[in-house]
Amino acid sequence: MTQVFEPGFLYGLAAVLGACFGSFSNVLIHRLPRNLSVVRPRSACPRCARQIAWHENIPVLSWLLLRGRCRGCAMPISARYPLVELAGAACALIGVWRFGFTFTGLSASLLLLLLLDIALIDWEHMIIPHTLTIAGGVVGLGASFLDGRDPAPAFLGAAIGAGAILAVSWGYRLVRGVVGMGGGDVMLMGMIGAFLGPWGVLGTLFGGALLGTVWALASTRGRLQTGAKLPFGTFLAAAAAIVLLAGPAIARWYLGLAR
Ligand SMILES: [Zn+2]
Repeated sequence: MTQVFEPGFLYGLAAVLGACFGSFSNVLIHRLPRNLSVVRPRSACPRCARQIAWHENIPVLSWLLLRGRCRGCAMPISARYPLVELAGAACALIGVWRFGFTFTGLSASLLLLLLLDIALIDWEHMIIPHTLTIAGGVVGLGASFLDGRDPAPAFLGAAIGAGAILAVSWGYRLVRGVVGMGGGDVMLMGMIGAFLGPWGVLGTLFGGALLGTVWALASTRGRLQTGAKLPFGTFLAAAAAIVLLAGPAIARWYLGLAR
């Protein structure tokens, strides 16, 4: 592929596609937790119900051209929309920059986009939609057959990821008598395992728990409340992105410390 097209063209294409995915992410983030169709109806202004035309829906550019306001009623449009579109472009660029213009690079880009959506949805609604994790898991397992890779770690990783959360959840219920983590976390870790394999998914669990604990301590200034709710999926998603991009480097550093 790289012989046919200039790398600059391919990076540009990745950025544009990523921004379009980011634009669709805005729809997913708003509608999936509310159980609304992600296809219909077309996006409209929530105040004046004016339908958004295709040329007003170009990632980032339209928001800038409209100066962040609805053309019908001048209601401000949140800067979050273009920011998610920019983040989508960044996800696509980082995936192919790190892993090349290969199926592995493509699946890394898709994983980062899925993690972005899941992190934002869980942060806002405390929900991890099965639609995203199941679709992601299928992509992750499917990608493990491409680029001459051995698919076994993907299947093992999915089983270990989902199994680890199930075990923690059952243990928590035995000790505390309440359900600590939901099915959303189980599916999310299954998906992450499919992409990152057994070691990657265990690193993600460790990193997610670490990030979540640090955040909980920081946000309560050290006064942790038992039973407080934490969007664990957001921290798992962040940890998975770190493991994807820097996992081997972190493992080498850690093993170097132990020596
Ligand atoms: Zn309007």
